Amino acid sequence: MDPLLLISILPVVILLGYIYLKDKNEREPLGLLLKAFFCGTLVAVLILLWGVFEGIAGFSLTAFAENSAVLKSFFQAAIPEEGLKFLFLYWLIWNNKEFNEHFDGIVYAVFVSMGFACVENILYVYSGGFGTGVARALLAVPGHFLFAVIMGYFFSRARFTPLKRKYLLAMAFICPVLAHGLYDTLCFAMEMYGESTGLSSVLNVVFIAFDIKLWQIGLKAIRTHCHVCGAKIPKGEINCPYCDQMVKYS
Ligand SMILES: [Zn+2]
Repeated sequence: MDPLLLISILPVVILLGYIYLKDKNEREPLGLLLKAFFCGTLVAVLILLWGVFEGIAGFSLTAFAENSAVLKSFFQAAIPEEGLKFLFLYWLIWNNKEFNEHFDGIVYAVFVSMGFACVENILYVYSGGFGTGVARALLAVPGHFLFAVIMGYFFSRARFTPLKRKYLLAMAFICPVLAHGLYDTLCFAMEMYGESTGLSSVLNVVFIAFDIKLWQIGLKAIRTHCHVCGAKIPKGEINCPYCDQMVKYS
């Protein structure tokens, strides 16, 4: 296998396998998971096509964002990418009968997000080379995984908490946008102003701290909430105190 293709796809496969195997109570059907993954690839294709269209038409909707790390991150990446992922997730899963447990929202959100990350990763790695592939396998692809865990967590909370549905659905969009936007802001800031301002090392440290925090939030959402009802499991409990589901995943 072509090493560039291998390093592009491997992190995606590992993270998909991880979340699939974590869903121990009732595994999701492979057909629907593949559809979710395909929806994610479609998000990437739509965004690419939009870029091509803008190129041909000679205009850019987000031209105002070009020279600012913050605006660029939110308007050219986080909002369109997380927004489309959210819309496809909602369209495919919200009313599906397979979406019957809290953890399912996280699983499907991760499959959508990894579909997107897979296409994006192949494109970046083939233009940047093997070093880019290694860096992206450690940072960008897990980043997309963690944004999806956050989206899926709130998406499920919204689905199974009718009283706060609108608020939680809004959070399922806003929280991954914030995480993704801040993540990219730090990356772009390192590229755009790191050397000129002499703040490279400070920005590096902030970025690493932010990445660690994201991992903590993501793993907490996966490990410390009941996979059936979503309730927080008190430390040391073997059964969920709310739905009596045995906790086999922490
Ligand atoms: Zn429970």
